[in-house]
Amino acid sequence: MFIDYDTFCQRADTLLQRIAGQCRVAGREPAEITLLPVTKTHPPAAAEYAARYGLAAVGENRVQEAAAKRAQTTTSLRWELIGHLQSNKARLAATHFERIQSVDSEKLIAALDRAAGELGRKLPVLLQINAGKDPAKFGAEPAAAPRLLELALARPHLQVDGLMTIAPLSADPTLARRTFANLRSIRNGLAARFGVPLRELSMGMSGDLDAAIAEGSTLVRIGTALFGPRA
Ligand SMILES: *Cc1c(COP(=O)(O)O)cnc(C)c1O
Repeated sequence: MFIDYDTFCQRADTLLQRIAGQCRVAGREPAEITLLPVTKTHPPAAAEYAARYGLAAVGENRVQEAAAKRAQTTTSLRWELIGHLQSNKARLAATHFERIQSVDSEKLIAALDRAAGELGRKLPVLLQINAGKDPAKFGAEPAAAPRLLELALARPHLQVDGLMTIAPLSADPTLARRTFANLRSIRNGLAARFGVPLRELSMGMSGDLDAAIAEGSTLVRIGTALFGPRA
């Protein structure tokens, strides 16, 4: 049985308080941080709850699952893709998502730009960087980031909002924090070199959001802490 709306509200209230608390510790403003509920594997009700609570967007990691879910909801939510995307699904992704956070290859940049052009839109994207050098994770190597950014900035139908990373799963709690600090430093370097703000730093999940906020996250992607464990 999926959770009811009251449970969702309690968890969302708790999370927002936790984010605000971490912001105080870090000397940041809670308004700098967006809570992105991750609705993957959960029923369309998860997205409906998020909208009813006043959240503007949800995150999904599979294109077809999100498209099907979206067709079953009546809200005006924005949908963001946070999972790995193959370039042969670029057109479908550009159709069903308002932003793609998982852009990590030259091929995908080209495919998304072409798809967005065909759809007559400018597609916001984040570059996913494997800032923790985790062999189990997707994302471009940090060394490849300048080249990817250069290519993405040259594409007329893409808008690069910033960077995204997933910290390695580890028993060492300092590893996530070092990963997030690394992403921020990569962002700062790229922003200076290319003269673009790259404002968005999408980093932090249910297990590591405190470290992410401490290191400058502007968007935390939260599934388990809102909707419970995934089947
Ligand atoms: C599933 C997922 C999340 C949410 O993870 P939780 O630990 O459940 O909060 C965040 N980011 C990405 C990329 C995911 O795939």
